[in-house]
Amino acid sequence: MIKLSSLGVFLAMLGYLADIYKVSAQPANKLTPIPIQSVTIEDSFWSPKRKVWQEVTIPDCFKKFENDRGGALNNFDRVRDGKTDGHAGPPWYDGLIYEMIRGTADFLAAKRDPVLEARIDGYIARIAAAQARDPEGYLNTWTQLEHPNQRWGLNGGNDGYQHEMYNVGAMCETAVHYCRATGKSQLLKCAVKLANYTCDQIGLAPKHELVPNHAIAEEAFGDLYLFFRKHPELKREIPVKVDEQRYLDLAQYWVEARGHQRKDQRSYREYNQDHIPVFRQTAIEGHAVRAALLCSGVAALAGINGRNDYREAAIRLWENMSEKKMYVTGGIGATAQGEAFGKDYFLPNDGYLETCGAVGASFFDRNLNLLTGDARYVDALERELYNGALTGVSLAGDTYTYVNPLFSPNGNSRWSWNGCPCCPPMFLKLMGAMPGYIYAQDKSDVYVNLFVGSKARLQLGERKLVLTQSTDYPWHGEVRIAVEPARTSEFDLHIRIPDWCQGKTFSGDLYQLNNRSSTNGFRLKVNGKALEEVETVCGYATLHRKWKRGDTVELHLDMPVVRVTANDHVESAVGRVAFMRGPIVYCFEGTDNGQAVENLTISPESKFEPEYRNNLLGGVTVLHATATGVFKTAADQIASVPFQVTAIPYYANANRGTCQMQVWMAASQEHAKPQKQE
Ligand SMILES: [Zn+2]
Repeated sequence: MIKLSSLGVFLAMLGYLADIYKVSAQPANKLTPIPIQSVTIEDSFWSPKRKVWQEVTIPDCFKKFENDRGGALNNFDRVRDGKTDGHAGPPWYDGLIYEMIRGTADFLAAKRDPVLEARIDGYIARIAAAQARDPEGYLNTWTQLEHPNQRWGLNGGNDGYQHEMYNVGAMCETAVHYCRATGKSQLLKCAVKLANYTCDQIGLAPKHELVPNHAIAEEAFGDLYLFFRKHPELKREIPVKVDEQRYLDLAQYWVEARGHQRKDQRSYREYNQDHIPVFRQTAIEGHAVRAALLCSGVAALAGINGRNDYREAAIRLWENMSEKKMYVTGGIGATAQGEAFGKDYFLPNDGYLETCGAVGASFFDRNLNLLTGDARYVDALERELYNGALTGVSLAGDTYTYVNPLFSPNGNSRWSWNGCPCCPPMFLKLMGAMPGYIYAQDKSDVYVNLFVGSKARLQLGERKLVLTQSTDYPWHGEVRIAVEPARTSEFDLHIRIPDWCQGKTFSGDLYQLNNRSSTNGFRLKVNGKALEEVETVCGYATLHRKWKRGDTVELHLDMPVVRVTANDHVESAVGRVAFMRGPIVYCFEGTDNGQAVENLTISPESKFEPEYRNNLLGGVTVLHATATGVFKTAADQIASVPFQVTAIPYYANANRGTCQMQVWMAASQEHAKPQKQE
């Protein structure tokens, strides 16, 4: 029998627990994403590209996956049929198929396509049939077909090669995206079975103490947790028990167990971010894609659990990445050896820069923007979206890059298919998700992160609001935003003012912007009336007012051609200069400039003029100037001659056959070094 006083304590405890529950159920993120379905992109830059990706790239990649080395989808059929050999492709092929489906799901969320959706449903049915073969719901086709006794790389297997937790993670994130896009839960059922089995098997002893060799599952299990928190009604559709807390617990274990001695693990290496505990890492190291995806997961989990150690680690590693190890294009992963980050400031012009690296970094940026509400992360995201990531698929949509150096003596080459075709699915994941990155919100306010012609339908608490952006960005810096609240209402509209127009440097002090215009880089008008002295806080200009139907905001961003120089510590850029206009980084190709762009020197007097060319490379603004060509004459003497040069956007390189390409151009001595700031 409980005495009254202890009953009181008991009730107080219940109340206390309820409070904790409430707190932990609150996302710690400052910003909330806008669902893809609520945003419609309609512009001249992204819309035509998105049409190509949906109509050409997605079917092209699926077709190639279906045919490659016996067919990545056939692996699922062979498991379904009880075969014990004949796996096609590498062990991470399951994961790449899931990632293809995730990317496609986000495109379908933006624009339904019954034919494509039926095709995906067919794939999902084959995946589900394969999973049904195993009574416990385990599914990793390579292990099942080739080494059925070596699940998770145990019993003499090699998890570093097997990528099992990577495959599991890719399935879980994909299931969430597909359910969000279509409302269909078939893949979600598979994901829950596989996630439950993984939670049974992996964690603190007596379970197997293993962490993913290739990160992705950390964020994916966080996603799965959040999805069921938000949609508990979906649990009724799942034939097995859903206890989402287990998914979050395992995701956290995968972060926190890294760098600690564990039974079962075979090696503790920098390569897969297992050499030092995550919370003690000061530098982002090892395989660039794995590192970026792990950090993206740490940032995402900080947004769920609200823990400072997660938050601080994510921010610290992001700062090291973006201020010491990021190329001017937003690319990461300087060395081919281990596909890894180099030391601070090691950014060779012929660096490796896997497309997946820029994509992984984009996810990391995005999660930190949601976590902190700071626009500097969107500055980096924008640089990757328009440069380092966008270059990964040809303009025609059916050839691809794996590496994206800033200097290719013989031209960057695009391939039709690759032994490890990881980049096209990652590219599609980013570009599929991108409509959801244009805007964000908090409880009462709206954030404009990217400048893309689009219409967004937002819900701010009880209030409905439509925002319509019209712009010719990135070629012009004029952005018009029509604000249409259903009823007049008071809130803040936060508009990102990009780093390239606001400051003298970006990526910390890794890059300097020269030739800046005399204004502060931007102007704002509301209903035609110019605003004086708009301050920016955390990279956003904030407009507070009672908004009513018909209100319009006009943003003008100065877009001069800007010379970029790198920090003195970047040896590869000493005496060199790169060019940007708005968010676009430029390169020089042999096709426009004769074959030897490496022989061109840009003098300080050379003045670059932009020109929009509708019929070139899908419509691009090119830059023209006079440079000096340094050539050997027939008599073997060095001749310097004035030379007309043309630069094209970096993302469009390698679309007109193979030719030399260079971003960092030799500068004549007068400005070989950046002017020292007083
Ligand atoms: Zn890749």
